[in-house]
Amino acid sequence: MAEENTTVQEKTKNIFELDPERLATTDAHGNRVYLYPEDVKGPWKDRRHLFYWFLMVIYLVTPWIYHKGKPLVQIDIFNREFTFFGNTLHGVEPIFMFLVVISSLFFIAFMTSLFGRVWCGWGCPQTVFIQGLFLKIEKLVEGNARKRRDLDRGPWNAEKIIRKSIKWIIFTAISLHIAHTFFGYILGPREVLRMSMHNPGDNMGVFIGVMILSGIFLFDFGWFREQFCIIACPYGRMQSVLMDENSLIVAYDQKRGEPRRGQVPREQEGDCINCYNCVKVCPTGIDIRRGTQLECIACTMCIDACDNIMEKLKRPKGLIRYSSENELKGQTRKKITPRSVIYVTISLAFITALTVFLSTSSNLNFQFYRGAEAPFQIVDNGNGTKTIVNHFTMKVTHQGSETHIAELEIVEPTLKDKIQIVTILKPLKFDKPEVKTPIFFKFDPKILVNGKLPLMLNVKQDGKVTSTLEVPLVGPAQ
Ligand code: SF4
Ligand code: SF4
Repeated sequence: MAEENTTVQEKTKNIFELDPERLATTDAHGNRVYLYPEDVKGPWKDRRHLFYWFLMVIYLVTPWIYHKGKPLVQIDIFNREFTFFGNTLHGVEPIFMFLVVISSLFFIAFMTSLFGRVWCGWGCPQTVFIQGLFLKIEKLVEGNARKRRDLDRGPWNAEKIIRKSIKWIIFTAISLHIAHTFFGYILGPREVLRMSMHNPGDNMGVFIGVMILSGIFLFDFGWFREQFCIIACPYGRMQSVLMDENSLIVAYDQKRGEPRRGQVPREQEGDCINCYNCVKVCPTGIDIRRGTQLECIACTMCIDACDNIMEKLKRPKGLIRYSSENELKGQTRKKITPRSVIYVTISLAFITALTVFLSTSSNLNFQFYRGAEAPFQIVDNGNGTKTIVNHFTMKVTHQGSETHIAELEIVEPTLKDKIQIVTILKPLKFDKPEVKTPIFFKFDPKILVNGKLPLMLNVKQDGKVTSTLEVPLVGPAQ
């Protein structure tokens, strides 16, 4: 699995006997040791891969499905609109995001306190895409772990060039699709598809964003892999805070396994025959027999690998299994602990606050879109004076189900009698979550500076100013 290290002693030793002083993915000089995890068959793998396919459909297909004219899921951060299964939350405010993020974090903490790193092994896109897709393709194109290692170490002959090219072309295509889907979650998939049909220069920002993201996915899923979990992922670092001795972990039963084969006379041996199969299959390269480690992503590969050995030896399965530290010590595992109660209570408190916020929030969110015709019209008043007209579509959104009445007030007192605001809504009454209505600004061209005026408007509800917005008025440069 791991490349041999560079010192003479290390070249002669079992490469699966890991150095206790350093990471399994680092050699004596601190260089990365590339891993070639072996494949394994078993019920845990079958369950996980079935779940990976389910998640990949959710991650990659969901935003491309439309319901009631909108994507099933869209997180439009630019227009502050979130759509879930045909329902759109408009004018999403920072407090909403804060409540969603905090309640989610505490919910993850709650799940971790009960089930350990179940997210890492079963749900994280990093694991899902690498285990469920990229490694499968790699195995298909380059062969099993031994062949992949030999190929990497071998010279750049025709076979190596062809196999590597095929693999990286497929990886690139998948990374591009994942990046486009990611942008589809934000901009809407039809918009992304429309942009991708045009010259990249027409949507340069999005084009650069998609290319950068594709490159990140390609680098991470194709090469960086377990290094992200070990080095970069903050969630992995927080395990010790989130878990306790009752949390479910993938663990080796030391009492049953030790002393392992080769260390004592045969009759004193435990059940571990020191075959290293659990190490060979581990995607982060660790030896689970050394106890719970930060690098373990609870992927269950070692459970299947060891169960297969136990089956062949006609010994009970479960030398490596889902367990807790208390169970391994012979004590009962508490399913509900003070830690998990605290986490779930905080999470529920924030979810309640979120629900109350959504049902009672009365703030209106205004957006002005300039009309499709010329940016302004000049009206001759017939008395030697002219009036400039700017036409916009005013989109007003709000959360909750109540009707709201608002006023627009010009902030600058000297402009109040110089600008006329004309709407067909009198008063400005909003009885739907989203209302679009035309609005006209009529004014004397003399108030413009270089043909422009950033007009500041107060939005007033129940006599109170709830927000201030800027409307860019334009006219002929004087
Ligand atoms: S797979 Fe099982 S028997 Fe083999 S080394 Fe690991 S724990 Fe021991
Ligand atoms: S120790 Fe086992 S569960 Fe943990 S990452 Fe390695 S194979 Fe997966």
